[in-house]
Amino acid sequence: MTLRRRDIIGTLAVAGATLASETGHAQAGPKTLFAPAITTIPIVGTSDVFAVRRIYCIGRNYEAHSREMGSDPTREPPFFFQKPRDAIQNVKVGEVADHPYPSLTKNYHHEVELVAALKSGGRNIPHDKALEHVFGYTVGLDMTRRDLQQAMGNEKKPWEIGKSFDSSAPLGPIHKVEQVGHFTKGAISLAINGVVRQKADLSWMIWSVAEQIAKLSEAFELFPGDIIYSGTPDNVGPVVKGDVLLCKIEGLPDLSVRIT
Ligand code: MN
Repeated sequence: MTLRRRDIIGTLAVAGATLASETGHAQAGPKTLFAPAITTIPIVGTSDVFAVRRIYCIGRNYEAHSREMGSDPTREPPFFFQKPRDAIQNVKVGEVADHPYPSLTKNYHHEVELVAALKSGGRNIPHDKALEHVFGYTVGLDMTRRDLQQAMGNEKKPWEIGKSFDSSAPLGPIHKVEQVGHFTKGAISLAINGVVRQKADLSWMIWSVAEQIAKLSEAFELFPGDIIYSGTPDNVGPVVKGDVLLCKIEGLPDLSVRIT
């Protein structure tokens, strides 16, 4: 049997508590300085919230978008990147949330995406069991400093600055699977100031949500609290201050932000 790190920590905590009670002294543990806040997402129909562990995003998961980004999707295995969890901007249903135009970019792009939230995880999850790990879904935006992403890519440097910045992950509240089911097809779209820019169907994904979970779990152990941005359709493009973005996925409430 192998002891996981948290089991060892748990064992030590119990030992410490025993020692404290036996000696009659409160055993103060180490004080945590500068602890980051937990990032949470509201859950529709309950006052409970979903605590986020990691944000995974798949790249180039719709054929036409992959081609517009200069790839040949027929030869490409799925690839993933991450955003920091505090990049999340929670957007309420029915509100038009102010979304800050970020620093350093002159080509700030929208990417509307279905987001899956996990209630359990593991390694090497089989494709046909993968959806059992999904807690729920929401609509998200994978906001992108496209100029910086492309410049870094051209220099074979990490995408970080183009993808993983503050507020780069606006999303709506999570709907439980029991409320909305799973999303293997259905319309997905994004409009700017009332003009539709991105319009596709979830069934056009190259790698389904189930396949994404299976593939991700080969590379990383997945855990409850992980969320997965499942890729954007083609016709990504720039936004400017004042633009109002309206994101739609059939079966979920709309997500809307104003660029400020
Ligand atoms: Mn994306």
